Amino acid sequence: MLRTSLPNVLSLRRWSIRAKVLAALVALLLLAVGLVLYVSATAVQATLLAEHAESARAVLNAVETLFPEATDLRGPLAQQRLAAIAQGRPDIRRLAIVVPEEGRWRVVAGSREEDLWQAMDLGAPAGPLAAPVVLPVPGSGDQVHYFLAALSSKGLPGAALLLETDTGDVRRALEDMLGRTVQIAVISILVLVGVFFWELELLLLRPIRQLHWLAGELERGALHVRSGVRRGDEVGHLASALDQMAAGLERAAEENRRLYAELERRWEAASRDAITDFLTGLYNHRYLQLRLQEELAQAARQHHPLSLLLLDIDHFKALNDACGHLVGDQVLAELASVIRASVRAMDIPCRYGGEEFAILLPGTGAQQALIVAERIRLSLASHSFRLFAEEWSRVTVSIGVATAPEDAQERDALVKAADDALYYAKRMGRNQVWAYRDLVVDPCAASRPDWWEQLQLNTVQSLAAAVDARDSYTHDHGDQVARLSVFLGQLLGLSASDLRALMLAGTVHDVGKIGVPDRILRKPGPLTDDEWTSMRSHSNVGDHILQQVRGLEEIAPLIRAHHERWDGCGYPDGLRGEAIPRLARVLSVADAFHAMTSDRPYRQAMPVATSLEELRRGAGVQFDPSVVEVFCQAVERGELGTSNGTGGEGGRHVAAIAP
Ligand code: GH3
Ligand code: MG
Ligand code: MG
Repeated sequence: MLRTSLPNVLSLRRWSIRAKVLAALVALLLLAVGLVLYVSATAVQATLLAEHAESARAVLNAVETLFPEATDLRGPLAQQRLAAIAQGRPDIRRLAIVVPEEGRWRVVAGSREEDLWQAMDLGAPAGPLAAPVVLPVPGSGDQVHYFLAALSSKGLPGAALLLETDTGDVRRALEDMLGRTVQIAVISILVLVGVFFWELELLLLRPIRQLHWLAGELERGALHVRSGVRRGDEVGHLASALDQMAAGLERAAEENRRLYAELERRWEAASRDAITDFLTGLYNHRYLQLRLQEELAQAARQHHPLSLLLLDIDHFKALNDACGHLVGDQVLAELASVIRASVRAMDIPCRYGGEEFAILLPGTGAQQALIVAERIRLSLASHSFRLFAEEWSRVTVSIGVATAPEDAQERDALVKAADDALYYAKRMGRNQVWAYRDLVVDPCAASRPDWWEQLQLNTVQSLAAAVDARDSYTHDHGDQVARLSVFLGQLLGLSASDLRALMLAGTVHDVGKIGVPDRILRKPGPLTDDEWTSMRSHSNVGDHILQQVRGLEEIAPLIRAHHERWDGCGYPDGLRGEAIPRLARVLSVADAFHAMTSDRPYRQAMPVATSLEELRRGAGVQFDPSVVEVFCQAVERGELGTSNGTGGEGGRHVAAIAP
């Protein structure tokens, strides 16, 4: 403590103004008092000496007047005369006439008897005196002095008058006066110092403290405070400069606050934009990727499930082609608001890209996610889009659902699982929901074709879709037949590759109708023989088309045979019973069931029960009886749901595909 504070104390630069001024004043005071004392003492001394010399000179005159002859200066007579002079003067302790002799003064006459002929050592060399001298008597405390002055004697060369006087009283009087003077001086100086300090306090120290406080307040951020010092002097100028500076700082801080708020607003807007899809206002792909990663980590930590829905608009390209991209954009935006209204606040709906959407459902298991997905699908299917063309006012979507941790634990794997489920939903006829966990064996995902095969497949599917679109009774007949065929194939325990073949064949089974004119295709009444010939040619034409498509060659025979009959009366080859490929027999039942349960140009859709009766009536005649029975029983058990098979209204009806 001492080691650190001592240099501080010693360092003048660290002293406060008050300490410095005080130290300077004390030094000045001491100096002044010393000076006064010194000057006074000198003055007292000089006064005393002058007094002494005056008195001595008077005595000298008296002596010289009394002793006109040198001889008179010695002996008892002189002695008596000197005693007489000294008698009236109490301050005169000794009065003598001395002569120098061997370096000392010899008393030749004196006011005191005992001094006569004494040799005295007066502290100064004895000899003729040019001028009178005053010498202190040693040991007298500067109160008793010798006064030596030459006598103008005629017979005694070097004779001098010795006067010993006591100036104690005078000195004391002088010293008393001096003491009082010093007291008055010190009191006056102290009063002056007090006044000085008071002025210093008012003029300098207090405003400096005020400014120091102001600086501290400013540093703490209280920019509204001001010094409160209002003066015209230098300190006032300094204070007003500081006040102006504080006002400037306050303005700058206010401006900074405004800029900061603006920056924050822009930052929030930019941050929002960075994660928002411009067209739909939903989150964008980037945000989904980030959140998916975070939510997966959190779900793993908390042992909660997390589901991902991938949703793709069905036949959106056709809508774009028919109505234009602007209308397409409108549909995307409207669809996004339907999605938003169908999910919880904590769910994360995003536009995944193009006409695909993703919805992240934290804390939601597969079962619940399927319910949510189905709710979304149904709200969309029942939503009437505000479009100018009535026939496009309905938009359907297909949804794939994957759930962590059962289906996948990693981000990409979860997206792929949901994508596989979505792809499956598409292949199964669209407008439905599929969960990845239900794709125990996924014939589609397991054997996704290469790009060339895909291109050809797409071409054929587009041709088939074009045929479906021309046919007046349904726009998605192919998709629905595919769905029903796979359902039936599963009931029969067919292999995954058979199911895949059924799905593809179902989708494109009517592609050969591309060569059948509209007037025949849409004719409400019975067909003429020629028209029947043209109509029947479609299985043949379909067979030819598919033989040209790599990857679809294997289903060409199914397409060819899908109008063969169990009794051999079908076309084009008149095959009978088990000679007809089994998958073609399955396709035939699915095709007939969907046709019966759809509105036709010449009749209304038949109820499901009537259609099943009709199928049973045709068993062993038109259809493979074992296939019909399995199908009818499953439908009766409600496994196909309440759907009449049109438009995929039944949603996720098809049971899990057995391995
Ligand atoms: P599917 O049922 O198989 O999904 O058929 P689809 O026609 O919807 O599928 P496809 O992937 O072939 O077509 C997607 C179309 O979505 C292609 C493109 O024209 C359209 N599309 C993608 N993004 C946008 C968009 O931002 N605005 C509009 N208007 N259309 C878009
Ligand atoms: Mg798509
Ligand atoms: Mg689509």
